[in-house]
Amino acid sequence: MRKLALHWWILIGMALGVGAGLLALQLGRVVVVATSPTSFVELDFPGMVLRYVAPFGDLFMNLLRMIAVPLVLFSLVAGVASLNDTAKVKRIGTRTIVLYLLTTAVAISIGLVVVNLIGPGRDLSGDFVDRLRERFQSSAQQKIASTAQVSIIQQLIDVVPKNPFEALARGEMLQVVFFALMLGIALTRLDAMRAGHAVRVFEILSDAVIEIVHLIMKIAPFGVFALIAKVVADMGQDGSVGPLFRALGWYIVSVVLALVLHAALVYTALLKFMTKMPLMRFFRGMVPAQLLAFSSSSSGATLPVTMRCAEKNVGVDEEVSGFVLPLGATINMDGTGLYQGVAAVFIANVYKHDLGFQQQLEIVLTATLASIGTAAVPGVGLVMLIIVLQQIGVDPMGIGLIMGVDRPLDMCRTVLNITGDATVATVVAAKEGMLHDPTGDDGDEERDDPGEAAP
Ligand code: ASP
Repeated sequence: MRKLALHWWILIGMALGVGAGLLALQLGRVVVVATSPTSFVELDFPGMVLRYVAPFGDLFMNLLRMIAVPLVLFSLVAGVASLNDTAKVKRIGTRTIVLYLLTTAVAISIGLVVVNLIGPGRDLSGDFVDRLRERFQSSAQQKIASTAQVSIIQQLIDVVPKNPFEALARGEMLQVVFFALMLGIALTRLDAMRAGHAVRVFEILSDAVIEIVHLIMKIAPFGVFALIAKVVADMGQDGSVGPLFRALGWYIVSVVLALVLHAALVYTALLKFMTKMPLMRFFRGMVPAQLLAFSSSSSGATLPVTMRCAEKNVGVDEEVSGFVLPLGATINMDGTGLYQGVAAVFIANVYKHDLGFQQQLEIVLTATLASIGTAAVPGVGLVMLIIVLQQIGVDPMGIGLIMGVDRPLDMCRTVLNITGDATVATVVAAKEGMLHDPTGDDGDEERDDPGEAAP
């Protein structure tokens, strides 16, 4: 029998996770009478999912996070050093950053066009808005307090770590990226004979970490099952999700539609006109990473798999992916920027705050900068939205209106975030003549499996 490719197993895991979460919600709390009416036990099924199933998801996430920092360090140093040509590093670096900034600005603009056309939030009843605000007031306040110290200028200054080892220990990705770049560039400037040994060590370490990715991917279907079951059980627990989704339906539609449009228009055009690669190879090849991004809501945790898919399935040379993708996971967040644009207009609509052209332009600028500073972990896009709202003079407490539906939208925007990184990596590789045909043919099922694993 033909071996099922990993992405099918992950999909099965996701479907079973949704099923298990829904079943637990359906069963709810059941009282089981044991031997006599006085001896009974209460079975809280959603609670059981959170207690006994969710830890497997956390374990899986920890495994992915465990390798993200070493992978970025080793592969970036090895990638930059083996480019072995400062001019080439500069060219690739400039192209990458320009493409990252442009795609994010375009993504936000698409979000703004869609949300202005659909106009969600204008007809929300005042009662409903008050109830939402009250319910999420304290969480919104907490998030606003946590951003009080975050200024964009400070974030730019903080790109340079005072102590790179502290940055590694704390998992400060942007700082790790900066240090790895410097180390890689420095190695290219040393005597090639001497530096060669160090570069080789970094290359071997990076291969070893990728081997760990293989192993972790073997349990991905189980990890994804647990992550999704937890999200479903958690969200459905207080029974308010259905009405919330209905009331915020047009807002959700605006975000999702704009995300799909951005992928369908911008990524497709970039890949079609700037590379010679078949579109299907790209989109099929990235499926495992996209599924993982969706389940985990973390482009940082997904990074090892994004790199693996881009290299093995799409054919991006390791030297390019080792440089472009870690940088992208940290500074390029098309989905997050787009979502911030849509959310800002939605909140302004609810507050009957008319945003003029200039303010919408400010959204594009601020959300582009904010998405650079957004950490690649779940829910941070919502926190950075506060900065965007403050910039355009809309009450940041408005984030309370959308908090209840943030997780599913986070899952969707994270998929776009990693797809955007991989698109830019593919384009940059093509421009450098470093995009290979990974299959030799047009690909078979097993090929798009970064771990070549099936449970
Ligand atoms: N979860 C997103 C990511 O990791 C960031 C965000 O939008 O909250 O890419």
